[in-house]
Amino acid sequence: MNGKYEAVIGLEVHAQLSTTSKLFCGDSTTFGAEPNTHVSPITLGHPGTLPRVNKKAVEYAVKMGLACGCEIEKKNWFARKNYFYPDLPKGYQISQHTTPICKGGSIKIKSGDGERSVRLNRIHLEEDAGKSIHDIDDRYTCIDLNRAGTPLIEIVTEPDIYSAEEAWQYVTEIRKLVRWLNICDGNMEEGSLRCDANVSIRLKGETRLGTKVEVKNLNSIRNVKKAIEFEIDRMIAEVEAGNSIKQQTRSFDAATDTTFAIRDKEEANDYRYFPDPDLPALVLSESYIQAIQNALPELPAVLIHQYQQQYGLSLYDAAQLCEDKAMVAYFSKVIQHTSSYKALANWMLGPIRQYLNEHALDFEQFRLQPQQLAALILLVESGQVSFSVAATRVLPVIAESNEAPMAIAEKLQLLQVSDASELEKWVDEALTSMPEKVAEYKKGKKGLIGLFVGDVKKRSKGKADPKLVTQLLETKLNN
Ligand code: ADP
Ligand code: MG
Repeated sequence: MNGKYEAVIGLEVHAQLSTTSKLFCGDSTTFGAEPNTHVSPITLGHPGTLPRVNKKAVEYAVKMGLACGCEIEKKNWFARKNYFYPDLPKGYQISQHTTPICKGGSIKIKSGDGERSVRLNRIHLEEDAGKSIHDIDDRYTCIDLNRAGTPLIEIVTEPDIYSAEEAWQYVTEIRKLVRWLNICDGNMEEGSLRCDANVSIRLKGETRLGTKVEVKNLNSIRNVKKAIEFEIDRMIAEVEAGNSIKQQTRSFDAATDTTFAIRDKEEANDYRYFPDPDLPALVLSESYIQAIQNALPELPAVLIHQYQQQYGLSLYDAAQLCEDKAMVAYFSKVIQHTSSYKALANWMLGPIRQYLNEHALDFEQFRLQPQQLAALILLVESGQVSFSVAATRVLPVIAESNEAPMAIAEKLQLLQVSDASELEKWVDEALTSMPEKVAEYKKGKKGLIGLFVGDVKKRSKGKADPKLVTQLLETKLNN
């Protein structure tokens, strides 16, 4: 970016709530059904039909709000947002206007080497529209109303994001959080998370906001980043050429990573919002909100901190473990059986994750019992089996059986040999096989010790205790 300017970005993220039914009726929200099969008279907006609020959707919105530190609105009104669109059968969308269910709050993002908070303006509940499909018929646009009425939360930031990279981080955090809370599957390809990016630029040091453009419906994190990068460059070029920025709504073309104007916005849209007369105020009690608060899972940010403080893990390891809720669940089970926390983190982020990847499994499907893993860690720490043998030979067997790691190590003859006479045999063989290297070592090339240890390891098929081998080698070589 040109050093004279800074970008200012505000994001509006729509997250489809993973309720089984729609926001105001019992129609299914299942993705990918035959078009126009989940369309009751309420979805179709027939005259005389009446909406009723989905309790789960309200609970999910409150959950998100509490997780973001928002203030929860106790007296919610739903508003009609009036506009005409073919995939909006009622001619209005039921949304929230003056009383968003959550106000304020923030999301922590990675920024540079550290962290910072992006302030939220609001999170409100609204229903989704249907889908207009332009590319399956030559002459007509096809309408699928299955999605009409699906519950969304719209998460709106303050203009508090300053680069495409930060926007990327922000959407990543949102996706992680909604998945963590189990309120949205976060699947951007299926449209469960969609983002509108509002972008402006200003001279560095300027405090007033510049004129913004809004890039609509970005359906991947990559596209969010690319669209913002393109917009920033485009706007700077405009201003540098002496032109002013037009307030516009734009769309992103993923084939070329560019954006194009879809409409100029000379003045604010007038949706004629008014309270929906079919829906009475939705009143949330303090005890209702408290109950949701109490049932909230521990949040990743809290856990990362706790893992460092309580278990002495590095920030990196703690953050890796907290990427995945199932991993956290597994970690917390195993620590009831071991106090080798760092070793546990190494096992989970190393060999176990590799094993699961190779077998296309996730931690939820991992069958290794917490006690078995604790016993395996102990086996390595007590020097009875080397780490690499434990990881490559013992782990795959015990992951598929309920057997004790010790029993398997014995059965496969993998226990490390610490019997000096047996070790000595391998050590002698190793040294006689490499007389020149031994001579070099004796002349001072002490780094060769690793080569000798490696050779003994090979001869013992990994069973020689490396600590004892090193000691033995040093005694022999230094005399
Ligand atoms: P609109 O009425 O056009 O939807 P809002 O004031 O509701 O605008 O803001 C929508 C989003 O745009 C919010 O995320 C807000 O932070 C962001 N935003 C508002 N003004 C600017 C600006 N000048 N530059 C960048 N983002 C902005
Ligand atoms: Mg907007």
